[in-house]
Amino acid sequence: MSRVLELTDVETGYGEVQVLWGVTLSVEENKMTTLVGANGAGKTTTMRAIMGVVKPWKGTVRFLGEDVTQLTPHEKAQLGLVLVPEGRQLFADLSVAENLEMGAYSPRARNNLDANIKKVYELFPRLFERKKQKAGTLSGGEQQMLAVGRGLMADPVVLMIDELSLGLAPVLAQSLFGTLKRLKDEGLTILLVEQNVHLALALSDYAYVLAEGRVKIEGPSHQVARDDEVREAYLGV
Ligand code: ATP
Repeated sequence: MSRVLELTDVETGYGEVQVLWGVTLSVEENKMTTLVGANGAGKTTTMRAIMGVVKPWKGTVRFLGEDVTQLTPHEKAQLGLVLVPEGRQLFADLSVAENLEMGAYSPRARNNLDANIKKVYELFPRLFERKKQKAGTLSGGEQQMLAVGRGLMADPVVLMIDELSLGLAPVLAQSLFGTLKRLKDEGLTILLVEQNVHLALALSDYAYVLAEGRVKIEGPSHQVARDDEVREAYLGV
């Protein structure tokens, strides 16, 4: 089993405020790994530190065996580390198809643009039906499909998604998770930050529980889900 992504003792924060206090975690190839924890635990900051949107103050990020700690988000995206950020950040005035094309910015992704767009439309027929519609006029669920689709257009080796289910009806969240599972079955490696702890632990392979900027517990998701103390202490469910 190979580790595609590895964080070792990562510390970082904003200005003078430290948020992560030594986060060590790894993401195995072709698995769905999830980060769960209360609001403010540092989940989003961990994703940003992996991507380099926030620079790690200490520690290392290794991707495919290389130390990428100091690379820019753009350089990391070119290597196949792709983040679907919280809040989606779509281009509201551009069409669905244009938003998807914007996702294929690296040379590698541009070479596979036609195949990838076909794949995204096959995964999300709703996007195909609405390909000329402006992103800003889509429903919340459709916007989330588009955000995931745009991430896929970047041809990820690891697809990271911050808050897949936020604001979505349970049935839609479940359907999106189903699509991710299908992508995983086809070989994609996935790292999720997820507020919906039940869904995340039910569908992922491995989980890290973050609290106060540290990993408190880790383990196969089904074990973490069964641990009453963990759920009460860190997850509030
Ligand atoms: P949530 O689920 O609420 O997004 P989280 O676990 O993702 O929580 P982070 O967003 O990583 O947590 O936030 C961790 C801490 O960092 C919080 O105390 C938050 O206020 C702070 N923080 C996050 N973003 C910024 C920022 N841009 N500037 C300053 N502080 C920030």
